[in-house]
Amino acid sequence: MQVLGFELIDLIGIKGVLLDIDNTLYPYQPSHQVAQAAAATALQEYLGVDSVAFESAYKVARTRVHHDLEGQAASHSRLLYGQKLVEVLLGRTDFEASLLFDRVYWDTFLKTINLLPEAKVFLEQCRETNIKVCLLTDLTAAIQHRKAIVLGLADYVQYMVSSEEAGVEKPAAAMFTLGMEKMDLSPADCIMVGDSLEKDIKGAEALGIRAYQISILV
Ligand SMILES: [Mg+2]
Repeated sequence: MQVLGFELIDLIGIKGVLLDIDNTLYPYQPSHQVAQAAAATALQEYLGVDSVAFESAYKVARTRVHHDLEGQAASHSRLLYGQKLVEVLLGRTDFEASLLFDRVYWDTFLKTINLLPEAKVFLEQCRETNIKVCLLTDLTAAIQHRKAIVLGLADYVQYMVSSEEAGVEKPAAAMFTLGMEKMDLSPADCIMVGDSLEKDIKGAEALGIRAYQISILV
């Protein structure tokens, strides 16, 4: 695995860092694939359906949730994916099944994530130079709190803004302004660090915040 970008970050004169979590501090895809497979197997066994039926219902459910909740944190909710895919398969809600899908997905996911060494060095640098760090992340608050703890971010990070809290997702300005508000800093004092050109980089630059793109090549 190759991680590019952290070495280019210039912290001179910077007082605060707005920092993406997913696919910036750890590689997202490998964890997602393992978690998705575990959650799919658990639900197939629980419902007694095969993988073809599952996959087809999952696609319908995910597309529907994305469409209905576009631009909101809950558009990524595994609980809602689970709930809707069960509704597609059974024609009704099954509370246990929805929760099982969500629980197996996230419990598996969180067991597989580790803070990248490059990210750790960067965060240590911020801590040593008294630079504030605010996580800026598109997802529901509960799971991002759990990720922050599992990744060991509590020692390095003072603030978090999730898209559930902001009511909108990156690149919306509200995400960035809320982060700067928490740190009590202006755009000139901050940088943004993240993997997404559209969300992290363009979102920050629209507000005059210098931004650095991280690339993880798995
Ligand atoms: Mg990301």
